[in-house]
Amino acid sequence: VKGKAKKAGKLAKNINQAAVLGAGIMGGGIAYQSASKGTPIIMKDIAQPALNLGLNEASKLLTTQIKRGRSTPEKMAKVLNNITPTLDYAAVKGVDVIVEAVVEHPKVKAAVLAEVEQHVADDTILTSNTSTISINLLAKNLKKPERFCGMHFFNPVHKMPLVEVIRGENSCEKTIASVVAYASKMGKTPIVVNDCPGFFVNRVLFPYFAGFNGLLADGADFSAIDKVMEKQFGWPMGPAYLLDVVGLDTAHHAQAVMAEGFPDRMAKTGTDAVDVLFNNNRLGQKNTKGFYAYS
Ligand code: NAD
Repeated sequence: VKGKAKKAGKLAKNINQAAVLGAGIMGGGIAYQSASKGTPIIMKDIAQPALNLGLNEASKLLTTQIKRGRSTPEKMAKVLNNITPTLDYAAVKGVDVIVEAVVEHPKVKAAVLAEVEQHVADDTILTSNTSTISINLLAKNLKKPERFCGMHFFNPVHKMPLVEVIRGENSCEKTIASVVAYASKMGKTPIVVNDCPGFFVNRVLFPYFAGFNGLLADGADFSAIDKVMEKQFGWPMGPAYLLDVVGLDTAHHAQAVMAEGFPDRMAKTGTDAVDVLFNNNRLGQKNTKGFYAYS
């Protein structure tokens, strides 16, 4: 394995300058993480208020670090200086890697990736942070699909160690090795997985949620399940709280993707707790009400 890792490391392109497309929850987090670990990053969005939100998020995280004594105003200035906001594709011309993190919509993502491909050098690596869209599908519109793969971060980016590097059927080894190296440089733990519905994490997580939904359908109390999973089983969060953090809209959508991908194993009822909460606009922490109420 050591020899293999060494070989992959040799193959990797040096990532000295990155760009993220989309300055939302994920794009802002990715920009912060890249900048704070020393890789300057251009943050591109379609609207100035969105860019401001992305930058504010990075500032908030840095201010917290200073308050906790883990950073200084000088370091904060340096990190913020490593993030260049822009509304213009021309700015991404010389970057080594692009992380696409725009809205989770196949047509929007395909259009954004095809457009950005026209603005970058031939050896720029393109990645997508999609949670549910097939990497092979997104690669279809690209002229050079071999330089494309998935780079799936988890929310909140600065806290979650894992990054799924998703190998499409045309992704070349240099692309995979370079994205693995970039994720490591960002202080993350990359794992390389094949393209399939749910990639790795959601293939483990959603059957767990399905088990939880089944218990609720049998009359169990969600907070009692959370208590057992947290206090007795020792997990940091129980399933109900985790679903509130993930967002019931996100979970509802991912459940549908998993059901389509694995109809025998992940059949959808349409009436489970996630469906009911979603249909009642209880989206979790993002709108202050899900399984639990937040103020
Ligand atoms: P978000 O809605 O917070 O942000 C999306 C951003 O994309 C917005 O700022 C929007 O203005 C921008 N955008 C839209 N069209 C654009 C374009 N053409 N060019 C540039 N920017 C554009 O969304 P998010 O939660 O950050 O999710 C982004 C991606 O990350 C999605 O693919 C999502 O599935 C994935 N993801 C989300 C999470 C999560 O928990 N939120 C976790 C992992 C992966």
